[in-house]
Amino acid sequence: MTEGILHRSFLDLHELMARREISSVDVTRATLERVQRLDPDVGAYLLVTEEQALAQAVEADRAYAEDRANALTGIPFALKDIISTLGIRTTCGSRILENYVPVYQGQVAGRLLESGAVLIGKTNMDEFAMGSSTEHSGFFPTRNPWDRDRVPGGSSGGSAAAVSAGMAAFALGTDTGGSIRQPASLCGVVGLKPTYGRVSRYGLVAFASSLDQIGPIARSVPEVAAVLGVIAGHDPHDSTTLRAEVPDYRAGLTGEVRGLRIGVPKEYFPDTLESGVAAAVSQGLASLESLGAHLVDISLPMTDAALSCYYIVAPSEAMSNLARYDGVRYGLREQAADVWTLFDRTRERGFGAEVKRRILVGAYALSKGYYEAYYVKALEVRALVQRDFEAAFQQVDVIAGPTSPTTAFRLGERLDDPLSMYLADAFTLPANMAGICGVSVPCGLAGGLPVGLQILGPKLGEQTILRVADAYERSAGFNVLVPPLTFGAPA
Ligand code: GLN
Repeated sequence: MTEGILHRSFLDLHELMARREISSVDVTRATLERVQRLDPDVGAYLLVTEEQALAQAVEADRAYAEDRANALTGIPFALKDIISTLGIRTTCGSRILENYVPVYQGQVAGRLLESGAVLIGKTNMDEFAMGSSTEHSGFFPTRNPWDRDRVPGGSSGGSAAAVSAGMAAFALGTDTGGSIRQPASLCGVVGLKPTYGRVSRYGLVAFASSLDQIGPIARSVPEVAAVLGVIAGHDPHDSTTLRAEVPDYRAGLTGEVRGLRIGVPKEYFPDTLESGVAAAVSQGLASLESLGAHLVDISLPMTDAALSCYYIVAPSEAMSNLARYDGVRYGLREQAADVWTLFDRTRERGFGAEVKRRILVGAYALSKGYYEAYYVKALEVRALVQRDFEAAFQQVDVIAGPTSPTTAFRLGERLDDPLSMYLADAFTLPANMAGICGVSVPCGLAGGLPVGLQILGPKLGEQTILRVADAYERSAGFNVLVPPLTFGAPA
């Protein structure tokens, strides 16, 4: 079997497995070999679960033989290392959890494993999902398979890079302010942030609980739809999950967008937008128009304010969520004569610079005297961001624009400038503030690097945004962008 098959849609692989033309063991072995060959140069994985993967593949082949298989059975996938996996180390990209092994299964991990998908490993990420480049990983940065001097985006950079390089058929990421859509955009793959509450967060280590959402990354829209169908739905273990029924997302991909109204917010096309990104996205919008959709100029006036507001709300929640890492119950523990010194030393050593920055900002925003001026104010602004979208969705069915203002930037370029790193999420984080859904779909290249088209929909509008993304993907004809992987190739 050639490695080329690893760039095929897993829905095709499933058909081939169902006809016994290939086996899950073949595909799993080929994937593991590819990881072994390419990942030393990419750094997408923090942990490869080789032995378990092969055992799961054997089990999957048995399921096919006994006609118990579904579309995910036997398919190799990866999980961002912030999703708890029973008995499998889960670090959140942090030294403080370097040796943490969960004693329970995250809901999404359980659902995927029950459906027979094969876990290849846990992917690299910015520490506790704070970042947009995966350079804030406590272990090592991930590199973009399109250009190894560039970042894959973040914080789910390992997941996006693994899928882009064919080291997993799909992966899960998490998106608190853009961490699924932005890396998907920078790596040339599809990434979906579901509506807040669509997917259970049980077993997701919390960053900012009112914003965090788990979602799929894959190389095409139908694959993303198939994964969403398995992970979405109510979960009694997560009281914020919605009780809404889970539609057949794949069945909704009709290719039809005629008459659909697509809002194009002027705030998503500022002068600072990279010209190659602007050109690719405009072309993407034009092709949706030629498919019969109507483009409508709209305004989302709170876009700028949303960014400032996010950087109060997210750190405030993070500061509270991260208080549990004190060296007492789990994770790293530094020795000390008294408990306060133990806390101090553990946190000093266990947390990286960005996490410390967030904790400090959060503590400041929540402290007496500043709470009203910062945190309460930010909540008020958040309500206005929500209203922005509500007003827009009175007028249009979906909203479209660039996912990220730039293509993949160079490693190190923004590390010393937190603000420029934060700006990477200007177009993605408003959706988290409002709790709505969004997808990033590849819309060509600029300077040889992938560009993502973002499509936002109202709450529970996943079917609609996936339909638009799929129609676009079909018409664009480059529904799988394969990075030029010349590195690590056998001579
Ligand atoms: N880059 C944003 C941040 O650093 C968003 C991260 C995310 O979505 N997890 O907070």
